[in-house]
Amino acid sequence: MKRLFPRLFTIILFAVSALLLVYPFGWSLPLTTTLLLLLNFIIILSAVYFQDRGVLIFGALGLLVILSGSFPFLPVKVFSAPLLATATLILYLYCLKITRFVRRNNVELENIEGEENILTVELEHLRIEDSALKQKMQRYAALKSLTEDLCSVLSLDTAVSLIAEQTFRIIDKRRCACLLYLVDKEKQEIYLAAGKTGDADYEIKAKRGDVFDSWVFKRRTRLMIKDTKKDFRFDAYGAEGGEARGVRSLISAPLIGGNKVLGILRLDSASCEAYDADDLRLLDIISDLAAVAIQNTVLYQETEILAITDGLTGLFVHRHFQERFDQEISRALWSNSRLAFLMADIDNFKGYNDKYGHIAGDIVLKQIARLIGETCNPGDIVARYGGEEFGVLLVETDKNDALKTAERIRKRIEEEKFILRREATRVNISGGLAFFPEDEKEKEGLIRKADLALYKAKSEGKNRICTS
Ligand code: GH3
Ligand code: MG
Ligand code: MG
Repeated sequence: MKRLFPRLFTIILFAVSALLLVYPFGWSLPLTTTLLLLLNFIIILSAVYFQDRGVLIFGALGLLVILSGSFPFLPVKVFSAPLLATATLILYLYCLKITRFVRRNNVELENIEGEENILTVELEHLRIEDSALKQKMQRYAALKSLTEDLCSVLSLDTAVSLIAEQTFRIIDKRRCACLLYLVDKEKQEIYLAAGKTGDADYEIKAKRGDVFDSWVFKRRTRLMIKDTKKDFRFDAYGAEGGEARGVRSLISAPLIGGNKVLGILRLDSASCEAYDADDLRLLDIISDLAAVAIQNTVLYQETEILAITDGLTGLFVHRHFQERFDQEISRALWSNSRLAFLMADIDNFKGYNDKYGHIAGDIVLKQIARLIGETCNPGDIVARYGGEEFGVLLVETDKNDALKTAERIRKRIEEEKFILRREATRVNISGGLAFFPEDEKEKEGLIRKADLALYKAKSEGKNRICTS
């Protein structure tokens, strides 16, 4: 398009000049005019060649000058043939100068164009780098906020959901899923603890992990598969190798804490080559953070359990029992249900200790705790209330059922043989029962009533359950 205009212009110019020349003179043109025309023809051709509009205009002007000397009805007839020739020659020389200038300019223009091309490519590179940097900055900002969030999480469930969701969000890909597996310590196998997927049709099916997870678990190293169909490492596993689940690419990293694999954090996709080395690096960082967070929550939960559990019997400690007691009273008031409190005490335990020793006494205490736990109903709350005293909160239980349960506990302990130094020993308990809401509607009142009932059981001969 750029070159078309001067060419067309020249052709039209020549056609018009030829017509104008032929029209008044026929084909018999004067020699000077013919020569000058030829000269102009060269000038215009060179202008066309160098695509210079300015030279073209000069060429056209030159043509008009020649024509003005030869055309009969033009008013400008002052030029003689030599004058015209000189004028045209000057014009020609001037055009040559311009042509040279244009040629030089063209070379410079080409250089500039070349530089422009290089700059365009560099700009494109910079744009790509800029957007990659922006993405990195966004990712690291998200990583920072994940770290902050994980620092304040105390529950394992919340931690795993947070890790799966945030990993999915940070390493943002289409048609993908983020899976977090944890290791079942007893079975030494993995199970799906949390998962997040963007598309409803991309279902998470591998609840126990697949061949890729086993690979990561056993080798304790990260894994990247660009195309599951082409990865020779998993050829032997065939369809099991993920294709069956529609997984085409994945990245996976083990969660290692204290030299043990705690779990696996994995991202998979239905498209091949969905992940690159940067994604894997980021997943590696997240998996390190996740491992620490998971360890912390597990440790916190263990500490919390330790704080409410009696070391010898494994029952709740007195303080926690009081808290649960308050909660159950509120619940019973709110739901208009009943409950009973059993306070049990081992009979003549001091004598037992004296006879068989304190360690033997501890063993008996432990076994009695187990027997009470096994004999009462699911949902009932059992605690070590004091030295050799137990508290049992029989929830949603009326008077009759409470009496039956307390008697069942007493009998179960009475029937148990406690083998010590190959000798079968027997131990009894006495119990005092208080009922909500019949006896009292407050915790303190219920405890007092149960204590009184226990005192009654002791004074009436022990090994029995009494009510106040
Ligand atoms: P009673 O039938 O009236 O309850 O008599 P008792 O001997 O059980 O009651 P007493 O309160 O006089 O003694 C309670 C004993 O329980 C004292 C202590 O030796 C024993 N005891 C308390 N806590 C523990 C413990 O943790 N381990 C052991 N082995 N004995 C304990
Ligand atoms: Mg006692
Ligand atoms: Mg006692």
